[in-house]
Amino acid sequence: MAKRVWVWTEVTDNAPHRGSLELLTLARALGTAEAVVLGPADADALASIGNHGAAVIHHGDDARYAEYLAEPQAATLATMAGADAPDIILFSSTPSARDVVSRLVAKLDVGIIANATDVAYDGDDLRVTVPWGAETTGTVTLNGSKPHLVQLRPKAFAAEEVGGQAEVKAVDVAIDDSTLRTRVVENVVEASEGPNLEDAAIIVSGGRGLGQPENYALVEELAKTLGGAPGATRAIVDAGWVPYSHQVGQTGKTVKPTLYVACGISGAIQHIAGMKGSKYIVAINRDPDAPIFELADLGIVGDVLTVVPKLTEQLRNS
Ligand SMILES: Cc1cc2nc3c(=O)[nH]c(=O)nc-3n(C[C@H](O)[C@H](O)[C@H](O)COP(=O)(O)OP(=O)(O)OC[C@H]3O[C@@H](n4cnc5c(N)ncnc54)[C@H](O)[C@@H]3O)c2cc1C
Repeated sequence: MAKRVWVWTEVTDNAPHRGSLELLTLARALGTAEAVVLGPADADALASIGNHGAAVIHHGDDARYAEYLAEPQAATLATMAGADAPDIILFSSTPSARDVVSRLVAKLDVGIIANATDVAYDGDDLRVTVPWGAETTGTVTLNGSKPHLVQLRPKAFAAEEVGGQAEVKAVDVAIDDSTLRTRVVENVVEASEGPNLEDAAIIVSGGRGLGQPENYALVEELAKTLGGAPGATRAIVDAGWVPYSHQVGQTGKTVKPTLYVACGISGAIQHIAGMKGSKYIVAINRDPDAPIFELADLGIVGDVLTVVPKLTEQLRNS
């Protein structure tokens, strides 16, 4: 019998989250894809989810799902899974999904494999691929109690429009008032120019080799000139030079641009884990033995403070 695969699908301001749409591609490969949307979503949002391959959308449209933190979502999902157990529930690696899934594992008393990049059936066993650093991947086999919960990294799959139309089923679970404890009072959208990091075709990232926070402006200038987005290593995020939303790597964002320019970045495995899928990698580093050069398609041995402004100027004039 075809496996039933739920995708916990985030919808914010009537836009389905790209990571959730990516997981519908995986869900269709594993069995029958069903989306679970808890919170307001208009007809266009639901149509988009169907268009991306959900055969069924379980929709709980109560505004309180969006107004409160993860507790009512987790409680409803646990009740739904208890009554109508799917084989798998997939979550994207977003902060909200982490909040929901951690509560759900406790309620269902099942395990969770997080940070995965692939999921496939081998007979009835579910094999989940998880990266350990940049070079090594592990495979975890799940054959215990269901549903199997897996949280996947963004961009592990492409979101595909397949032209489908989903059957929308109302979620028939009453919200338990005791779960309405922590309310979201304000959402602040960080102002940014240009494409966001996950969607950018060109990324220029800076590392500790920039020397001091003010020099990150060189990275931003080059990114802007190329029509791309600026990224960063954890070293300079931890140092407070740029916000965490810029961090690329194992504990930051996974990116897959056409061009990735690494400026003053050593190439630690935790950074490489987030950008090794880039099509072309250009590295600028004054140390000819920096590990980043092993990965780079084009390496420039030199001082970033000299090379980056020259590059920006050349590109502006070309
Ligand atoms: C659990 C864990 C998770 C982590 N997650 C991440 C993550 O998500 N993302 C991440 O990036 N890191 C992560 N790290 C940190 C990672 O191990 C490295 O410490 C970090 O990536 C190093 O950043 P960097 O390349 O900017 O700095 P450094 O390693 O200090 O490298 C600086 C480079 O700049 C070069 N340089 C110096 N001056 C110049 C100059 N003037 N011109 C040109 N080149 C110059 C140097 O030769 C050197 O190669 C993680 C670490 C751990 C333990």
